[in-house]
Formats: sequence, C-alpha cells, structure tokens
Amino acid sequence: MKLKDLFISLSENRTLNSAAQKYGLKFGAQNVVAGTNIDEAIESIKELNKHGISCTIDNLGEFVFEKSEALAAKQQILAVIERINADQVDAHISLKPSQLGLDIDYDFCYENLKEIVSIAHQYGIFVNFDMENYTRLHTSFQLLESLNEHYDNVGTVIQAYFFESDQNIERYKNFRLRLVKGAYKEDPSVAFQTKKEIDQKFIEQIEYHLLHGKFTSIATHDHNVINHVKQFVKQHQISNEKFEFQMLYGFRKDMQLSLAKEGYNFCTYLPFGSDWYGYFMRRLAERPQNLTLVTKQVFNKKTNMLLGIGTAAFVLGRVTKRKS
Ligand SMILES: Cc1cc2nc3c(=O)[nH]c(=O)nc-3n(C[C@H](O)[C@H](O)[C@H](O)COP(=O)(O)OP(=O)(O)OC[C@H]3O[C@@H](n4cnc5c(N)ncnc54)[C@H](O)[C@@H]3O)c2cc1C
Repeated sequence: MKLKDLFISLSENRTLNSAAQKYGLKFGAQNVVAGTNIDEAIESIKELNKHGISCTIDNLGEFVFEKSEALAAKQQILAVIERINADQVDAHISLKPSQLGLDIDYDFCYENLKEIVSIAHQYGIFVNFDMENYTRLHTSFQLLESLNEHYDNVGTVIQAYFFESDQNIERYKNFRLRLVKGAYKEDPSVAFQTKKEIDQKFIEQIEYHLLHGKFTSIATHDHNVINHVKQFVKQHQISNEKFEFQMLYGFRKDMQLSLAKEGYNFCTYLPFGSDWYGYFMRRLAERPQNLTLVTKQVFNKKTNMLLGIGTAAFVLGRVTKRKS
C-alpha cells in the first residue's frame, strides 16, 4: 500500500475527522491552517497583504451529509464575506460545493451557492469553486455554469490529471481558472497516474490558458513549473496582469514572498477552521515529506496516536471489505 493511498484514505475517515476537531490545531496543522476562527484568519491575511500577497480564504468543512451542516457552512462563509468587506482586506473566497450540500441535493446546493455568490457580487468579491474528486466534477461544472448565467464573479479549478481536462480548459477558458495537478486518488479510467504525465499535462494546460484564457491562477509549489512559467510569459510577452501564482498557506513561505517581491501577482490559499483534518491529510498524501516539514516540532504522542488509529482503521477497513 502506498503512503499516498494511506493518507488519502485517512482524509476520508469521518470518525477521525470528528476526533481531530476536539484537539484543535495541535498536531502540526497550525503550520498550514491559519487558525480556527475568522479573527485569526483575518490577522494572517492582513500580514500577507502587507507583503503584497492577496489571499483566497477556505473556511474548512468536510463530511457534510445533513442540510443543517450545509446551512451552517453557508452562514460561516457569509460571515467571512462580511469580514472581507468590513476589514477591506485583499482576499476572495474558495469553497467546496460538497460543503454547501452537493452530496445531499443539487438544487439545495445551488440555492446555497447562489446566496453566497450574490452577496459576494454586491461587494465585488470573487468566489472560486474548488474541485473535489471525479464523482463531483460534472455537477460542480454544472453549478458554475448555472451561476454564471447571473453572476460573473465565479471561477473554478482544472485538475491536470483528468483525461478530459484539455476539453474543460477549452470550454471554461473565459472563466478565471485555477490550474492544479490534482490532489485526489482517481481511477486509471479517468485520470493520468504517473507524475511524468501529470506534470506534462499541467505545463501544456498552463501554457494554453495563459495564451487563450481570461485569467490564470497557477497553483503549485513546484519550482520547475514556476520557473517554466516565468520564461514562458517573458517569451510570449504575457502581462503580469493576466496571471498569478498561488500556493497553500504555510508552504514555501520564502518563495511566496520572493515571487511577490519580484512583482508577480501572488495569492495564498488560506484555510481556517476547526475542521482541518481532511485538508491536513491530503497535504500529507501529496508529499509525505510534509510530515516532517509540518510536524517537526509537534509530532508528539497525540499525533502518533491519531495516525496510529487511522492506520488501524484503514487496515481493518480493507480486511473487512475483503471479507464481505
Ligand atoms: C493554491 C492551491 C489550491 C489548490 N486547489 C486544489 C483543488 O481545488 N483541487 C485539487 O484537486 N487540488 C488542489 N490543489 C492541490 C494540487 O492539485 C496538488 O495536489 C498540490 O499542489 C501538489 O502539487 P504541486 O504542483 O504543488 O507539486 P508536487 O508535484 O507536489 O511537487 C513537485 C516538486 O516541487 C517541490 N516541492 C513541492 N512542495 C514543496 C515544499 N512544500 N517544499 C519544498 N519543495 C516542494 C519538490 O521538489 C517536488 O518534487 C491546490 C494546490 C494549491 C497550491
């Protein structure tokens, strides 16, 4: 079993998610999550804004199966929008359609999103729909298209690993798009599996959208990709106004600051909230070295215990599955 599979599986474990919430940001997650409440998040944004870095705020939320949970998430996101406006910080919203009820009922999710997008629109705040796994891909695009009939402050993410992403880039090129490699474990029938293929597609799609798209957010910690983009925009005389680099809060901080200092638009993806567990596990799945980077000072008994329980749950789950 690959380490990546283990962490992806842990990220999907609801019991561990609930358990982790009780501990707060104590297991190293505080290095990559900007606090558990909006005040802490706003302070971090103000600090980044001082360095010319804008932010996209993710009010963390996973495992939404009840309408009440989706409505609570909507209220929290609306409160974030109010704070962006009240404090006049340079920030916009990132959200996951599943958080607003996509897995419960499409129309219910649409109504929740519409309220968020319409209020954000009044304040001139952009709303990005993060992309989740393949099962939610087409419904997320459908939501985006429907909302775009009324509002222009919406955009989404294209994950390079999907076979269909070239077509999706073409179809949605007039949206503000965030381009990423892709964070979930996907089936070989729908997605490239090797790093080489994914990296190549990622570069091709970035180049295409830089040349033909509206506005491109290049979201990566990969210095090879960033250096390639720097050369490419120079060669094709693409203005800095047409794109930005994005990285996740807490990762490669020096590079985030130096890209902003070099005059590139830079946006930090800033997650906050007590529901940090799934997000944190996906970061570990992406790059197991993050385990040491992220938890070097705090990898303590509790963390080991949490991961230990997770591993046991994962293994047991597999054994049970095989039995049944
Ligand atoms: C802002 C942002 C938003 C995202 N939104 C989504 C989304 O909506 N949906 C989705 O599926 N995925 C999303 N992702 C995750 C994305 O799909 C990738 O899984 C993730 O970014 C890892 O790929 P990478 O391009 O950063 O480089 P990787 O392939 O992880 O790394 C390439 C190389 O870069 C270097 N490197 C990477 N990280 C570090 C580090 N921390 N320190 C030092 N060197 C490093 C290493 O040399 C590594 O070999 C997002 C990522 C970002 C940054």
